[in-house]
Amino acid sequence: MKSLVWFRNDLRMDDNPALRAACSKSEEVHGVYIYSENQLKLHNEANCKIEFMIQNLKSLEQSLNKLNIPLTVISSNGFNEDAKKILNIMNERSIKEIYWNKQFGTDEESRDIEVENILTNNNINCFLYDAQILFPAGTFKTGEGKPYSVFTPFKKRWIENFNIDLLDIEYNYIPKEKTKISSNINDFEFCFAKDHSVDMSLWPVGEEEALKRLDNYLDKKIFYYAKDRNEPIIDGTSRLSAYLALGIISPKRCILEALKKNNFELDSGEQGVTKWIDELVWREFYKNIMFSFPRVSKGRPFQEYTNKIKWRFDKGELKAWKSGNTGFPLIDAAMRQLKNEGWMHNRLRMVVAMFFTKNMLHDWRLGETFFMQNLIDGDFSSNNGGWQWSSSTGTDAAPYFRIFNPLTQSKNFDADGLFIKKYVDELKDIDEKEIHDPSNEIRSNCKYPTQILDLKESRLRAIDAFNEAKN
Ligand SMILES: Cc1cc2nc3c(=O)[nH]c(=O)nc-3n(C[C@H](O)[C@H](O)[C@H](O)COP(=O)(O)OP(=O)(O)OC[C@H]3O[C@@H](n4cnc5c(N)ncnc54)[C@H](O)[C@@H]3O)c2cc1C
Repeated sequence: MKSLVWFRNDLRMDDNPALRAACSKSEEVHGVYIYSENQLKLHNEANCKIEFMIQNLKSLEQSLNKLNIPLTVISSNGFNEDAKKILNIMNERSIKEIYWNKQFGTDEESRDIEVENILTNNNINCFLYDAQILFPAGTFKTGEGKPYSVFTPFKKRWIENFNIDLLDIEYNYIPKEKTKISSNINDFEFCFAKDHSVDMSLWPVGEEEALKRLDNYLDKKIFYYAKDRNEPIIDGTSRLSAYLALGIISPKRCILEALKKNNFELDSGEQGVTKWIDELVWREFYKNIMFSFPRVSKGRPFQEYTNKIKWRFDKGELKAWKSGNTGFPLIDAAMRQLKNEGWMHNRLRMVVAMFFTKNMLHDWRLGETFFMQNLIDGDFSSNNGGWQWSSSTGTDAAPYFRIFNPLTQSKNFDADGLFIKKYVDELKDIDEKEIHDPSNEIRSNCKYPTQILDLKESRLRAIDAFNEAKN
């Protein structure tokens, strides 16, 4: 028996249920990846993320090669061509079985339904798996039979239903029969034009590197996570998000290895471990939200009333925010971190998103898109969830009158100003008393911009706009 595995955002061997099933059942296995520059652009995938994806695809090809599984990369103009492309390759190679892991997002789901229909009509068997989250999306319902829209009760159900058998992921691959087909990845024209300035040495390529990163993180840092996770200058979080977003590592592997450090306890024992697993459950929560409330995947807010908010639009403010020149040092340091690293610390994501949607009163969708276009870990559901939380338009969102003050956040979470100094070169010699809100004289001497807005006034303006939309 011959089979085809369709790789999408699951660029790994470890805990890859589609690959595992194909390898268990078939003597000959082929892999395929559909590359569409158009589609990636349409979904605002960051240039650095595309580069990272291509490099990881090459790394995956080498691992598959050791098992005699050739990987064929096919180009396409977009999701609408995928069904035809898959059918063609299966017909050409006389393959009658295909395996893939499910993706989230309405476009992806519609594409998969179309592919499955066309293949089934052509007598091809399709086998679909859940590889991105522990429980299939939509598993948990409230007492009224509705999907959860608040994190804490969702997490409670998640923990109640957790069973260690869910993490039965160990599997030894045995090389398959050799095929006449060879991988084409080294000749494939990705037509990738680099236009980012991210330091890619921060993101070593490949599944082995991802597993090593997990291992290193779990060795020590995880035990301090509950305390260290809020201070951006501390390297206290795992930075595994880029690998999780492309499926280079699996959430099950992360949870299993973390549990081993905590006597397999999910909600007691080491606080750092339980807190870290909590964050992985947030990731699952947002994927469930996207699945159960497809409107959030179509640019609509979860809280419908917020559609009526009269967002402002100021080209100058937008430019200052994007380039890290708002005159608020912590905001600027965060935006420059994003540009240099393709990544931003979680607390700062909340701070800059709240500043954007509340103080600047700009539409959260603009910020969401800018993040997707720049994050190496861009993940549609987590990004959408994070933006909707910060702008108080989403599930379980921050109440609209709760607006982080970026100066207070700066003093609380970057007390010595070390994070600001690292990213805002103009302020590197300013002492910790002045650095959070430098005087006009310092700003002028250091050529650092004045503030683009007044915090008090802009806060009241935001509350008025939300009140008006609500009533
Ligand atoms: C406005 C905004 C936008 C965001 N956009 C994204 C995004 O595009 N992609 C993305 O992966 N995360 C996003 N997040 C969530 C979070 O900021 C990142 O997952 C986290 O900073 C990644 O760093 P880490 O891997 O070191 O996380 P760790 O603290 O080590 O956490 C481990 C893993 O848990 C998951 N996780 C952690 N925090 C969250 C969270 N709040 N929501 C959902 N999952 C979480 C991530 O997969 C992360 O890799 C966003 C948050 C906000 C507020």
